[in-house]
Amino acid sequence: MISSVPKWVGDLFANSLRPNAKVLETSYISSQIKKIRFQGDISKKNFEIGYANVIRVSETDYRNYTAAYHDKKNGIIDIIVHIHGNGVGSRYFDALRTNDEIFIGPSRGKIVYNKRAKQQFIFGDETSLGVAVALFPLLKSNNHQFQFYFELDEENKNVPALLGLKNFIVFIRNNSFRSEKWISDLPLFRTDEWNTANFILVGNVKSVQTFRKVLKAKTQGSIHSQGYWLEGKKGL
Ligand SMILES: Cc1cc2nc3c(=O)[nH]c(=O)nc-3n(C[C@H](O)[C@H](O)[C@H](O)COP(=O)(O)OP(=O)(O)OC[C@H]3O[C@@H](n4cnc5c(N)ncnc54)[C@H](O)[C@@H]3O)c2cc1C
Repeated sequence: MISSVPKWVGDLFANSLRPNAKVLETSYISSQIKKIRFQGDISKKNFEIGYANVIRVSETDYRNYTAAYHDKKNGIIDIIVHIHGNGVGSRYFDALRTNDEIFIGPSRGKIVYNKRAKQQFIFGDETSLGVAVALFPLLKSNNHQFQFYFELDEENKNVPALLGLKNFIVFIRNNSFRSEKWISDLPLFRTDEWNTANFILVGNVKSVQTFRKVLKAKTQGSIHSQGYWLEGKKGL
């Protein structure tokens, strides 16, 4: 995905990249997690679970964010942003206030939810809270057996509960999800209950890759994975 374009390209398409949504409200769920509600014309956007919207975060930079909630009738989108402080996107959303205007681009991505699988297992981090919140009502209404595992910084450990999620375990980030051996010992693998589940892995690239490797070796389930960010890499 292209995360930045030269200024002259932006200028060329200036009209189509103009702000098309307004901030209605913002709130901090923790010092690092900000929920932002926008209003705009979203009638033509596609909100498949796993899709993200490309959002313009500077004159030349674009980043991917998931609609945690949307309401096409009233033109509402919520996003849940990890304010990690390392990048232009994070700083842009930290500074965003009510009535600010922004450009929300098309939505696209990978479909990760398979309605037919009875069991759904979701692994993610702060960047995955949006997709978790979008998926949660479907998990309940379609009577899935489901489990969330979140790899989070200590200061965000209460966020899943504050967002109203259920059936989650929070693991405080300490690089454990970089170890195949450690992942193999997780409760998930202690029975064969989850053997054929739909596995959704999103968040840090290295954690996702390591988890995927263990799942491939130890289960028969279908695995949908997408890295959302990688140390030292701009705008995945
Ligand atoms: C399909 C998809 C959906 C996504 N949905 C969301 C979402 O709903 N909410 C959300 O917050 N993010 C989401 N992301 C991730 C987000 O797009 C990236 O974290 C992005 O890199 C942030 O841009 P930035 O400008 O802040 O940092 P960048 O300029 O991209 O990166 C600068 C530096 O910051 C580091 N960095 C980037 N992200 C993080 C992070 N999360 N924690 C710590 N360091 C980081 C990079 O490794 C790099 O070193 C999604 C990504 C994808 C691909």
